[in-house]
Amino acid sequence: MSEIPKAYEPGKIEKKWYDFWLKRGYFTPKIDPNKKPFVIIMPPPNVTGELHLGHALTATLEDIMVRWHRMKEEPTLWLPGTDHAGIATQVVVEQQLAKQGQTKEEIGREEFIKLTWEWADKSREDIRHQHQLLGASCDWTREKFTLDESPSKAVRTAFVRLYNKGLIYRGERMINWCPRCQTALSDLEVEHKDIVGHLYYIRYPLTENEGFVTVATTRPETFLGDTAVAVNPEDRRYKNFTGKSVTLPIIDKEIPIIADAAVDTSFGTGALKITPAHDATDFEIAQKHNLPLVNIMHPDATMNENAGPYQGLERFACRDRVLADLKDKNLLEKIEPYSHSVGHCYRCQTMVEPRVSLQWFVQTEPLARAATEAVKDGRIKIMPERFRKIYFDWMGNIKDWNISRQLWWGHRIPVWYCRDCGKLTVSVDKPSACTHCSSKQIIQDPDVLDTWFSSALWTHSTLGWPEDTDDLRYFYPGSVMGTGYDILFFWVARMIMMGLENMGKVPFHTVYLNGLIRDESGQKMSKLRGNVINPAEAINKYGVDALRFALTTGTSPGNDINLGTDKLESGRNFVNKLWNATRFILQSLYEEGLEAQAIPILPGQPQRIEDQWINSQLNRLIKDVAELMQDFQFGEAEQQIYDFVWSKFCDWYIEIAKIRLRGQLTPSPLPFLVNTLENSLRLLHPFMPFITEELWQSLKVRLLRPDITGGCNDTTKMPASIMIAPYPLADERSFAPEAEQVMNSVIEIVRSIRNARAQYKVKPGKWIEARVYTGELLSGLINEAHIIETLAKACPLAILSRQKREPTKDKALVLVLKGTEVVLPLAGMVNKLAEEQRLLKEGKEIKGRISQLESKLRNNDFLNKAPSQVIEREKQKLAMLEDKLKRLHKELAQLDSPSAGS
Ligand SMILES: [Zn+2]
Ligand SMILES: [Zn+2]
Repeated sequence: MSEIPKAYEPGKIEKKWYDFWLKRGYFTPKIDPNKKPFVIIMPPPNVTGELHLGHALTATLEDIMVRWHRMKEEPTLWLPGTDHAGIATQVVVEQQLAKQGQTKEEIGREEFIKLTWEWADKSREDIRHQHQLLGASCDWTREKFTLDESPSKAVRTAFVRLYNKGLIYRGERMINWCPRCQTALSDLEVEHKDIVGHLYYIRYPLTENEGFVTVATTRPETFLGDTAVAVNPEDRRYKNFTGKSVTLPIIDKEIPIIADAAVDTSFGTGALKITPAHDATDFEIAQKHNLPLVNIMHPDATMNENAGPYQGLERFACRDRVLADLKDKNLLEKIEPYSHSVGHCYRCQTMVEPRVSLQWFVQTEPLARAATEAVKDGRIKIMPERFRKIYFDWMGNIKDWNISRQLWWGHRIPVWYCRDCGKLTVSVDKPSACTHCSSKQIIQDPDVLDTWFSSALWTHSTLGWPEDTDDLRYFYPGSVMGTGYDILFFWVARMIMMGLENMGKVPFHTVYLNGLIRDESGQKMSKLRGNVINPAEAINKYGVDALRFALTTGTSPGNDINLGTDKLESGRNFVNKLWNATRFILQSLYEEGLEAQAIPILPGQPQRIEDQWINSQLNRLIKDVAELMQDFQFGEAEQQIYDFVWSKFCDWYIEIAKIRLRGQLTPSPLPFLVNTLENSLRLLHPFMPFITEELWQSLKVRLLRPDITGGCNDTTKMPASIMIAPYPLADERSFAPEAEQVMNSVIEIVRSIRNARAQYKVKPGKWIEARVYTGELLSGLINEAHIIETLAKACPLAILSRQKREPTKDKALVLVLKGTEVVLPLAGMVNKLAEEQRLLKEGKEIKGRISQLESKLRNNDFLNKAPSQVIEREKQKLAMLEDKLKRLHKELAQLDSPSAGS
């Protein structure tokens, strides 16, 4: 009979429609100089593996924005891509190699890069496929990879320009070093963890006199690289020590005692050991005092020749040996427990080693100043606003950005060193000779750039920069940059800096920061906890639309999202609700034998109150949704559509329509059923693209032949797909406050009668008598009497003016509602004797429990021993039972007396 199957099977439908959209080129925008485009450049996922829920969330939110703007008939570009993710990918491939017992050094740079490309290509394909599963309507014809030729050229160009402007320099600085990855890391790539460690007090014997200076340190092994002991000049304890020297134990090395105001007198003993090559603060002090640097470790954090007898030991093994030796010599004064924060590599979790090293840096201060200004003056809006302050703080304290990495996977630094004259050639294209002396003896810097350097250019490198392309001219700057708040600095801040620097214009107008996904109890999802939801599995089980619904409904920018199976289930239930509603409507059309022409999509002026009501509510919804979407409150917009469709449309309007269809009453509700459904589907499309397309298409073939005018609030042809149909526009002339008042009252009356029936356990099929007394709504309610009667199973039903209200003579339940009173004579509802007995029996039970509790609360033994919360709980229980007993008495009284309020 009906034209769609009984149950919804997402798998079949999703693939069908995605291919349909893709084939028709709907994702590819046309450049139209007369229209302002809507542009999102997708945050490129790392080619390290599968997409997780965080990606699914970002992609869903962006797809919602993009589909919405596309339906508003704006040229809409959502440009997808992937990131080579330097260190992260290199670590993954190294781990793969390790499983086969190999290292990257064994196979060599060229072979390693070849392997990594294979990994990346496979991974990019998976990522593309997963985005397509999610329904992401991005323009695959413009897909980019950070290592593609054009973005790579952008990277080299940006480097050369910044170098020529003096904003990129090479210098020996203290950097963060990962001994496992054997590369430098930027400050952002270091994760700080609180470690419960120790503070070791070590005695350094004075060189000339008897006695010691005791220093406190968390890293005793680094004493081998000490080049001074510093004290605060104000510190009286060390007044006579400055200028003298101590001798480092075991290696017998004399180092000076110096005074520096930077020394914190409250830490340890107030005497600070200075290890300039292995600590950032010490490095600064050493610079001021011209102290030598002594590096005691190899890049892999084993001890080098400067470590004397400890040479060759790994850093922690060395610590154990040093402590044992100091103890032997009685130079270890004491050990205290000590918690402190220690940096770890964000990719492999190895403890980071501060290290002085020759690296490339971006001088960020001038770039940061411009980027701060752009947010301050409103050229860029950050959502939610509370992240503005965090952004300003970070920008205000920004340090130079270390951009060189001792890795193989990434953009090679475009710098060549000359063997003859020693000078540098910095060039976008590979030079054939030194630009200074024309020597052919030039060699490229072996390092690659920080992966975030190329990500920082993403907003314009994807559109063809540095070339002056049509895409760049039309689609830059982007509209929205949506991403998790966790990469605000890594990425968003740097995109703003580089966009302004390279393009002279902000890269986007709005930064939309979404929250992170946690499990249903608010815990972070992790493999260790076993609470990870895999997007592909969720899609398999619940369908894409249900997953998208679960990820976004009711959420707001910047707030974390708790996601559990209950949310996925309610997503699936919603899809089923839509499916069943559509089936019902299609079936009704069929049964009515209505030809397409008979159902205009714009149903004309509604005559009946419930039609006016649903039409009014629909238009209010359309208006609210537009405002919420404008305000980036997508989760709330979706919630409102859900509430409307589920309760107002399905639970009430369709139920009412069924009564009218069964009774073949005129006018038919079908035009309003169709119109409300069709508009709801279009409203929902950006959120749940597949189910809406499927249902809309079924509706379309049944109803809306392409040649019929009047479709979709428009007089032209119906579009081929819901995704290119216009987004609904509110018609405020449809607002009908009076009809809404009546229908609110109808709903309230039906609900209250249903509740009373449930309370008195009236059998579902039984009709009960009801009298409704009302004021100004009288004529409206009389019009709807038939509906109240059927939905509440109330017959005979009298709707009367409140002025005619007489004291109730029979025993009845009186429900006092807003502006109306409902009187339900009890005779028809209750078997008095049985009800009386039930209430008496329940009363007896409650009384028994009350006396038990009372005696417990009089018992001193209990009162003295039990914790106060327990006593409090018992008291509350007692109060509750007493309350319940009171209500029971009232119900008993109602059985006997003619009327009682409730
Ligand atoms: Zn590492
Ligand atoms: Zn040269």
